[in-house]
Formats: sequence, structure tokens, C-alpha cells
Amino acid sequence: MGSSDDPNRTQAAIAACAEFHRRSITDRDGFWREEAKLVDWHEPFTQVLDYARPPFARWFTGGRTNLCHNAVDRHLAARGTQPALIYVSTETGQSRVCTYQELYEEVNRCAAMLKARGVGRGDRVLIYMPMIAEAVFAMLACVRIGAIHSVVFGGFAPASLATRIDDARPALLFTADAGMRGGRTIPYKPLVDEALRIARHPPRHVILVDRGLDPGLAMHAPRDVDFAAARAEHAGARVPCEWLESSEPSYILYTSGTTGQPKGVQRDTGGYAVALASSMRRIFSLAPGETMFTTSDIGWVVGHSYIVYGPLLNGSPTILYEGLPIRPDPGIWWKIVEEQKARTMFTSPTAIRVLKKQDPAFMKRHDLSSLRWLFLAGEPLDEPTARWAADALGVPVVDNYWQTETGWPILSAQPGVADTPRKFGSPSFPVYGYDVKLVDGVTGRDAGPGEKGVLTIAPPLPPGCMSTVWGNDERYVSTYYRTIPGREVYSTFDWAMRDADGYYFVLGRTDDVINVAGHRIGTREIEEAVQAHAGIAEVAVVGVQDAVKGQVPIAFAVVRDASRVADAAGVAAMQQEVMQTVDRELGAIGRPARVHFVTLLPKTRSGKLLRRSIQALAEGRDPGDLTTIEDPGALEQIRAALQVP
Ligand code: ATP
Ligand code: MG
Repeated sequence: MGSSDDPNRTQAAIAACAEFHRRSITDRDGFWREEAKLVDWHEPFTQVLDYARPPFARWFTGGRTNLCHNAVDRHLAARGTQPALIYVSTETGQSRVCTYQELYEEVNRCAAMLKARGVGRGDRVLIYMPMIAEAVFAMLACVRIGAIHSVVFGGFAPASLATRIDDARPALLFTADAGMRGGRTIPYKPLVDEALRIARHPPRHVILVDRGLDPGLAMHAPRDVDFAAARAEHAGARVPCEWLESSEPSYILYTSGTTGQPKGVQRDTGGYAVALASSMRRIFSLAPGETMFTTSDIGWVVGHSYIVYGPLLNGSPTILYEGLPIRPDPGIWWKIVEEQKARTMFTSPTAIRVLKKQDPAFMKRHDLSSLRWLFLAGEPLDEPTARWAADALGVPVVDNYWQTETGWPILSAQPGVADTPRKFGSPSFPVYGYDVKLVDGVTGRDAGPGEKGVLTIAPPLPPGCMSTVWGNDERYVSTYYRTIPGREVYSTFDWAMRDADGYYFVLGRTDDVINVAGHRIGTREIEEAVQAHAGIAEVAVVGVQDAVKGQVPIAFAVVRDASRVADAAGVAAMQQEVMQTVDRELGAIGRPARVHFVTLLPKTRSGKLLRRSIQALAEGRDPGDLTTIEDPGALEQIRAALQVP
């Protein structure tokens, strides 16, 4: 599976990567001073790292720069006529290619709209939009004038939107009449109206892109303004970039909320620009001008970093895709790769699992010779899925692990540094800049090779990571740095293990550990064991309270061939097989007390398993906030499965 079968070359590559990492930690200043040359500074920084107030790190202090300048303006001379933003919608059938020059024009007009409404440096702007080009214009317009954007995923319900509005207190909100999903129109405006009605701090202005999708669209003057009309007022507008001090915020992004109350992750300006520009070369291995195709949503961190800012900082065309991976047919992504000559692709394991269920002929139909890498992140990447993708596409699959908080990968292969072989099931090594430590969550001691530990990062966090929780320094420190006894380290709240070769394996979230008769087992480990059964496509394991054992694992599995569980005898046989597989792979201690079969699992639209909701249902509690659930039918199946003993 490695890129080289020559053990000497393999060892040399691993050593080169480790040496690069070592230097980033032992000579932080020298290392990052060099990386900082990848971006334009209006005024040079006076200090690489200001760490006077641990654990708060301020990068490139005294330097003045602007994200929009670096993503757009600086490329005009060399790439004005080259594509910057390639918008493709299989929902509306529309597409549009903006060159860097056109993107510059649009962003300026959008910035002028903001200025005309009194929005400026430090003001917040909320963006609640579908995957359309105007959403990217709005983001770049904000950072151009020093306004702080907060993009809220377009699938959130009014109450969730209102919570974020009250936390960020935006002066203005961008939205659209509607989004579309699988050919169905989802009106946004009524949701916005409802959110603004219940919010305590609603914005004064709403600018709405009318896509002509919602015949019932209601506008409320003077608050609501039509984007096209406002744009028309600012033809040829030029709005200068606001030169921000490096630590000034660029945006706020709320975490997915998988584990509860979302936190407003605050990102700086200079550190983020440097980290992303650096990662494009060293991790994503993309040369300026080469195309990136990231299939996430702008509402998530992957969308911020690798649909919008990363590729544009790099001078690369980026693809903004509105639609599903299987519509009009499961070949659509590969058709886009072929047409746009995408070189680096970034998607989620969930999306690949969806494609895996389709006819592979759809993939083979397209010329994928431009494609060099497939990056996957956001959730655990199981070995069969990784293997399938690598075989089907014929390119290396790079599992990378990170969080909304960090803004760019913590663990990943770094092919732009050294071409280390990848191991299936592992996101390889710590990325340069991250001083990763695996620690025992109870004693705080370092975990040895092969031992499981909490994945933590010794501060200071590298450039690009969150500066603080928006408006709440105290919460930043207490949430992330006060959980490991005796150690002031940043906790990711994920378990991991390192093997003898230094490869890391992410074992699940620390709160996904269940306690069976005194034994602590990660639900992820049990899931992996269940998945070793070739007939299982996907599985979720949760711990459920049990009077005798404390907790017992319960599995909800999706069977590859549904006919195998069509009757009671089939179900019983399959349950037996699954339990035996777990006994063999993990030991009887991990054996699920019950195995239920469903046809789909409840997930967020970003592909994260709603484990907490499943567990709540299994324990007869309220499943909680379900506004970003992909398909509510999945929870109904869990409910139904639980009725049948
Ligand atoms: P919240 O923090 O609000 O509960 P969340 O953690 O789901 O939400 P994100 O920041 O989007 O929000 O997700 C980061 C988490 O996703 C990681 O902490 C980890 O649990 C998981 N994750 C991301 N990438 C990988 C990966 N490559 N392998 C395994 N797990 C991953
Ligand atoms: Mg998290």
C-alpha cells in the first residue's frame, strides 16, 4: 500500500517528515518566519510568536495583512484571467466560472454593500446561505473590510440560528430565498424571519439573494434588501482592503455541536493565512493554478479552509459544488473532476461510503488522470472504505484528522514534505507545528507506544488554530486546557494510539467510552470489530445503562445485503455472526448485548454519527437538537428497532 516498497526509502521519508516536525517545535520562530513568506504582509510582523499570556498564542504580532488581499488581489497580476471560483450546481443546473478578476469585482461590490450599511471593522456579519457563489463573495467581502463573518450551515433550524445570532450579535445577515437538496426546494427566508423574531439581538439588515426558487418569498422593507438590487448600485466599486493586525479576528465558526452546546471558535487573520497557505503546499500538495475540489459545505470548517481560503490563497481554482454525490447519477463528482482537471480532492468518509454502494461503472466512465490525491476527513475512516476508494480511483487516500477548533489538519500524511507510505486506518503523523502528546486521562502521564491515550496538544497551538472562544476567554481555558490532571495541554477529547512506527490511530471520542462491568471500552473499537464482518456496511455502537453491568454496548448495523435479515431466522443468524465476530476481533467483553438491523444510521449532514441521540433513545430520553440530521427517518428506524426486543 505504501508509495514505495523500498524499506530504506520508506524509512528515509518517515525520518524526513519527523525532522521537519521536530524543527517546527524546537525552532518555532525560525520555522514559521519562513512559512510566513507564503503570504503578503502590508507591514511586517515584529514578533513571530507572542506567548506572554499562556495558553493564548498570538502569531505574527505587529504584522498587518488581509485575507481577501491574499486570496484575491495579490493574484490579479499573474492570474487575473484564470479561473478562481468554479460554481457547479446540479440542483438548479447552473454553473459559473469566476476568474480572479471577476471574483475581485464581485467581492468589491459586495464589500461596498456592507460599507453602505455602515458595516465595518470588527462588526459581525452572519451568513446563512446555500452553496452559491454569492456566499463566497460575502465571506471575502467581510474579511476585506475587517468585518467578522460567521457562516451558519444552511440546514440549521430557526432556534439554532437564533442561538448563534445572539452569541455573535451580527450587524447584518446574508441569506437567500431558498436552498435545494435532491431537487427539493428548501425555503430559507421563513426560517430567517422566525430566527430574527425569536433572537434577542437580531441584525438591522438582511441582504437576500433571490434565486427565484421560492414563489412565496416575503421581503420586509426596510430591513430586507435584494442582493441584485444592491449589487447594481455598486457597479465598478473599489473598496480598499483593511489592513488588520495579525491577531484581529477573521471569523467566528460554531462547532458542529455533536457533543452539546456549540462553541464560537474565533480565528485570527495572519496566523490563519500562513497556516493555510503552508498546508496547501505541504499537506495538500497543490501547486498554484492547479484545481482543488472540496465537497464540504461552507458552513463547516472544511469549507472555510479548503473550499474558500486555502485554494484561493494558493492561487488555485476551487470548485463550489451544490448538489448530492449521486445526482443526476453517482458519476457526477468524477465528471466534474474530469471537466475541471481537479488535482486534489477532499471529501468525507461518509460520502465515499455512499458512493461505495453504487455501481462502480459510474466511476470508470470518466478520465481521472488529473487526480493525484484524495483527502478524507471529519470522522473515522474505516479500512474497507479507504481501500475501496484507493482501488476505485487509483490515487493515494490521505486520512487527515482535525477539528473546527484547529482550522487545519492535526494528523495527516504530508506529501509535500515527504512521501511517507500510508497505513490504512491511520491518519499518519502529527502535522508540523502541533506538539501532539498522548496522555493518560486519569494520571496525566504520557502514553507509550501501543498505549491508548487522550490526544492532546502542548500549547502554544500553531498558527491557524482558534484564538479563543468568541467573547469568552475563560470558557476557552476551562473547556480545553483544564481536563487532564497536572497538565496544561489542549485536549481534543479524542482517544488515539501510536504504533511502533509512529503512526497514529484515532480511536474515538473520550466521551464515547463505555464502562462494561468495570472495563472501559471505546464504542469505536466495538464498531471496528463489528465491521470486520464482511456483510456489515455500517454500524453505530452506543453504551446503554444496565442494572447489572453498569453499561452494555448496543449495536445498530446496516447490512450490505438486506435480504439476509428479511425474516426472523435471518436476523437471528446475522446477530449470532456479528457477536461471534466481535468475540473474535475484540473479545467477549465488547460483545454487543443486542444487535439491531436498520437500513440507515442517523447522521448530521456533515456525516457525523448522532451517537448521543441514539444513546438517548436507547435509554428512553429525549434525543436533543436534531436540526442538522440528514434524514429523520433514520431515527424512526432506531425507535422502531428498540420497540422489538
Ligand atoms: P462539537 O465539538 O461541537 O461536539 P464536533 O466535534 O463534531 O462538534 P468538528 O470540529 O466538526 O465538530 O469535528 C471534529 C471531530 O471529528 C474530531 O474531534 C474527531 O472526533 C472527528 N474527526 C475528524 N476527523 C477525523 C478523522 N480523520 N478520523 C477520526 N475522527 C475524526
Ligand atoms: Mg469537537
